[in-house]
Amino acid sequence: MAQGGRRGIRKKAAVSGTGLHTGARTEVAFLPAPPGQGILFRRVDLAGKPEVPALLSEVEAVERRTAIGRGEKTIHTVEHLLAAVAAHEIDDLTVEVSGPEPPILDGSFQPYFEALERAGPTETDGEPLVLTVPAPFTVSEGDSTYVVAPDKDLRLTVTIEWPHPLIGRQTGSYTVTPQGFARDLAPARTFGFTSEVAGLQAKGLIKGASSANAIVLDERGLANGGQLRWPDEFVRHKAADILGDLALTGGRVRAHIIATRPSHGGNIALARAMARAARRTGPPKMDIGRIMDVLPHRYPFLLVDRIIEVEGQQRIVGIKNVTINEPFFQGHFPGHPIMPGVLIIEAMAQVGGMLLMGAVADPEKKVVYFTSLNNVKWRRPVKPGDQLRFELELLQVRGMMCKMQGVAKVDGEVVAEAEMGAMVRDR
Ligand SMILES: [Zn+2]
Repeated sequence: MAQGGRRGIRKKAAVSGTGLHTGARTEVAFLPAPPGQGILFRRVDLAGKPEVPALLSEVEAVERRTAIGRGEKTIHTVEHLLAAVAAHEIDDLTVEVSGPEPPILDGSFQPYFEALERAGPTETDGEPLVLTVPAPFTVSEGDSTYVVAPDKDLRLTVTIEWPHPLIGRQTGSYTVTPQGFARDLAPARTFGFTSEVAGLQAKGLIKGASSANAIVLDERGLANGGQLRWPDEFVRHKAADILGDLALTGGRVRAHIIATRPSHGGNIALARAMARAARRTGPPKMDIGRIMDVLPHRYPFLLVDRIIEVEGQQRIVGIKNVTINEPFFQGHFPGHPIMPGVLIIEAMAQVGGMLLMGAVADPEKKVVYFTSLNNVKWRRPVKPGDQLRFELELLQVRGMMCKMQGVAKVDGEVVAEAEMGAMVRDR
């Protein structure tokens, strides 16, 4: 696929209908968004019109659909809409929804794909975030398994198995382009079995289901005299569902994904693994200006240059380029410059501080105090010219206290690691 700038839409387009699981009648409006915003849902039916970014950190539920947002502002079944967005390679879009669930429409991706076509997909400013994988890896979650291999395009090779005369074992392989998606995947509808209806209804799901918005199967074949659009419509639908769930990485995925018995839970585990393993090109998540808005540190004690990855409040990756001009090299040591080990840990703590500050509403009024350091190890000296990469993960939160695990790497090799405790206080 050609990779130009970011893409958005030119004008508003809307669809309306009934939600599959909630049964709620909802209108969805696609609106142009500023370049760099990403995909953002807005619940216009609620006071304050709360917004939910289409990101992995917002995933709330994965049973029979993918839901994002928390509590009252949850938005159910976003995967069909997001698959259409991803198929058009749209990076920036505001999606206003007037209820808790985008409509299921005919059960396929096509009405969303066509609505976005009417909205006029167009190139905008800035660089898209593109996720590629440097080496193959596997993901498994429950019955679902995925092999992810490097590829210049997004290719989906999907196998499903159901003990049903119309399904059995189906495999399909699709290279995702806007044209290919429209032709091979968009019309494929979701499906369900009459035997599951009572159980799902008891869980409060599929309140809006009917044979007009899903392929309904009984023990022998199609219930209600329906017709299939392809004999393998089932596997096509599951392939496009994967595309929708991968959109929650916030970027365009370029990889060959070989999926066996995919599920929403599996797809989300895949998307998380992708977000971790992927090599990203595109703009930094936070530049030095934004870092200085959040951290109180200043020269010569600000030791973070860039934040390049943020995964909600779970994980953060930051960069510090170490140059010969660092003030500490003057005396540490003359003629033999190495970065003081405690400053590597300080820099790591500052990146950790960015992670914690991301969780508070008013970072300019807060400050992070570090309260403990454990299992600190220095493995290699850091010298002028090195690029330090700090990867921090949140291990535990209790009230205002939290624990993080951090590693510092240079050229992929660990130079230092530590477990740190911290608390957020008023400034
Ligand atoms: Zn689906």
